[in-house]
Amino acid sequence: LASRTFHPEPSVIKVKDVEIGGNEVILMAGPCAVESREQLLETAEIVKKAGAKVLRGGAFKPRTSPYSFQGLGEKGLEILAEAREKTGLPIITEVVGTDTVDVVAEYTDIIQIGARNMQNFPLLKAVGRINKPVMLKRGLSATIEEWLNAAEYIMNEGNFNVILCERGIRTFETMTRNTLDLSSVPIVKHLSHLPVIVDPSHAAGNWRWVMPLARGAVAVGADGLIIEVHPNPKEALSDGPQSLNPENLMILSKELKQTAAIS
Ligand code: PEP
Ligand code: MN
Repeated sequence: LASRTFHPEPSVIKVKDVEIGGNEVILMAGPCAVESREQLLETAEIVKKAGAKVLRGGAFKPRTSPYSFQGLGEKGLEILAEAREKTGLPIITEVVGTDTVDVVAEYTDIIQIGARNMQNFPLLKAVGRINKPVMLKRGLSATIEEWLNAAEYIMNEGNFNVILCERGIRTFETMTRNTLDLSSVPIVKHLSHLPVIVDPSHAAGNWRWVMPLARGAVAVGADGLIIEVHPNPKEALSDGPQSLNPENLMILSKELKQTAAIS
């Protein structure tokens, strides 16, 4: 179902009046995690000003350590909904388990499946039964074929609104958090009709590499970017080192506009 042989034309996924996979490169941005009402509303204004089309923010966080900040849960979803109301931006947030699919789907415009859950088949099937776009991140050590098969699990349940997200894979390199596999973008776009978004933030692990990787992603044909931004990255409760500050998000979005990548 994800294959070009089944569906030769590229799929355009509509989220309110935003089209993902159309002619425009879509910028999604926001903090790794919703930390407080003030933090999210402030970031949402910055994201809107930068011309991003979708606001990201994690309410349920899949943290490597159980002692790290786990997110605000449903309270975080309420704050995201408030930010959507104030800015008009549709929201994307992650679901980490089948028990919270309904509550996440009730609030969000796009459901995110994180890298750690790419092969959580019960979760893939559960979001496949929901009538909302799903952004499926590539697993930490997943091949392109495994990633496309994960998309197939969602689509096989009836939900064809799948967006893929390349976020870097594990390699022997330690200078970056993950190695951004930019070759996956043209390959996936050749094999599949689904749109592909690139997340340079989780690949880089360091804000310094986010901008050059974002340029590369656009150059290889990504349909959009998802970028972590924080009003004060040093104080972030998660992924501060890779988060852009507001000034750098503005620079990135200006640059994308100049290359006419985004409108
Ligand atoms: C995230 O988007 O904050 C996240 C946890 O990403 P990934 O699943 O790619 O690690
Ligand atoms: Mn993050």
